[in-house]
Amino acid sequence: MSVAKTGAGENIKEVVTHSPEETLAFGRELAKSLERPSLILLRGDLGSGKTTLTKGIVAGLGAAREEDVTSPSFTLLHEYGAELKVYHADLYRIEDSRELGTLGFDDLWTQNAIVIVEWGEKLWDNAPAPQVVIQMEYISSEERRIRVERVSE
Ligand code: ADP
Ligand code: MG
Repeated sequence: MSVAKTGAGENIKEVVTHSPEETLAFGRELAKSLERPSLILLRGDLGSGKTTLTKGIVAGLGAAREEDVTSPSFTLLHEYGAELKVYHADLYRIEDSRELGTLGFDDLWTQNAIVIVEWGEKLWDNAPAPQVVIQMEYISSEERRIRVERVSE
């Protein structure tokens, strides 16, 4: 697995993984560079690997084991960790910002936590300025493109 910087900006990383294990490993590696607090917005179609990447990030942060991180597609929000809190949300089923308000997201931003949001584009303007946006793309059954973009401090 190689990480190449593109010409688009010095903080852009792009990688193609060739198995779920490589995506997990990429997530574990990424975890090392995350500041606290951090908001990570994951974008990409169903099956593009957002939850798989999250497992790697949460494990890399030492907040839970990979196998204990499950998709919050029905429960919407999962919490991991003790001293360092990691929140994992999936907004696929959220239809508008009013519905989002019932989730209690506002409390999360005030904690010194790592917040990972699948379908992060559905936060609309309810979030502080995004810190890290990750775009995931299905290439073939075992290949995914992962593009990491740091947006703002
Ligand atoms: P999402 O959360 O974006 O819907 P998931 O992580 O739940 O995606 O699902 C990705 C699926 O694709 C999993 O079944 C995983 O095993 C499979 N897969 C195959 N190759 C890869 C890869 N390179 N990276 C991530 N997932 C992969
Ligand atoms: Mg998912």
